[in-house]
Amino acid sequence: MLIVTEPGIATEDFEALIAEIRRQGYTPHVSEGENRTLIGAIGRPPTPEIMDHFRALPGVEQVIRITQPFKLASWEVHPEPSVLTLPTGKSGGGHFMVAAGPCGVEDREQILTAARYVKQHGAQMLRGGAFKPRTSPYAFQGLGEEGLELLAEARAETGLPVVTEVTRPDLVELVAGYADVLQIGARNAQNFALLKAAGESGKPVLLKRGMSMTLDEFLMAAEYVLSEGNPNVVLVERGIRTFEKATRFTLDVSAVPVLKERTHLPVWIDPSHAAGKRSYVTPLALAGVAAGADGIIVETHPNPESAKSDAAQQLHEDEFAALMEAVRRLLPAVGKAAAVEA
Ligand code: PEP
Ligand code: MN
Repeated sequence: MLIVTEPGIATEDFEALIAEIRRQGYTPHVSEGENRTLIGAIGRPPTPEIMDHFRALPGVEQVIRITQPFKLASWEVHPEPSVLTLPTGKSGGGHFMVAAGPCGVEDREQILTAARYVKQHGAQMLRGGAFKPRTSPYAFQGLGEEGLELLAEARAETGLPVVTEVTRPDLVELVAGYADVLQIGARNAQNFALLKAAGESGKPVLLKRGMSMTLDEFLMAAEYVLSEGNPNVVLVERGIRTFEKATRFTLDVSAVPVLKERTHLPVWIDPSHAAGKRSYVTPLALAGVAAGADGIIVETHPNPESAKSDAAQQLHEDEFAALMEAVRRLLPAVGKAAAVEA
């Protein structure tokens, strides 16, 4: 349930209210509005009696049943858009962010070269997988901790925060020790133990949509991270399975307006994994921007033809530069105040 406090509630009443929420077996999630404080009391479905009980407490203005199955992700509990804030930029609430880099970290030269040019062309974050979830156990699995060290080196040189995938709960501590943002991939989007562990880490989480996930299931996956007390979740539409084989997955552009209507969380597009082919990446990225996405995550590699994973979809540097230029031109048309800098 959602408890709305009266404007200017006394501190002792607020503290007593929080204590009572806990005593009744709920977990309070406090969200400060302009005039009022909203407290999401998350737990078992509230009875009419328990709602009346809270209504009668001093400083309480309203008690509302949260109608959505996802609570903390809903606008009801959090009426302001969530904004991911990094030293290099923001995403959400009118701010747009680009994360870019290779699919996987392959060697020092490759990741440093990519980091330098993605920064030069205006990205706010560097991507690169060190632990790669591959369809085949014989395919390149990533450099592991060595890859994390190389990402940290690229960050030290360029100042770009890094996002990298974590594939198992027992790796969260290691990956969080290096990464600024944890990525949870499509294949792990309903790995609830991993979602909880990422939530506990306190690092922002970039959560990809599972390839067979409904949007409601996607929001419930985000809820696992949020319910661990971690408010920084970015939802990434990266293509879903359909009957169409012309693209690797089908980018569900409608996910952007639907999710934005249902949640305050930033919504991004990953055009690379949806496309599976370089020439489709820029049009899909621009479709995402036009639909209202708060950011994109794009794969680019200094020499894509030699890439150890996802070679066909990674952009060459000049293609990435052109994509950034097109995004910069489009952003003002969709009312994104903070366009990505050149
Ligand atoms: C990736 O970002 O390299 C990746 C594996 O993405 P996804 O989980 O969306 O397939
Ligand atoms: Mn990839």
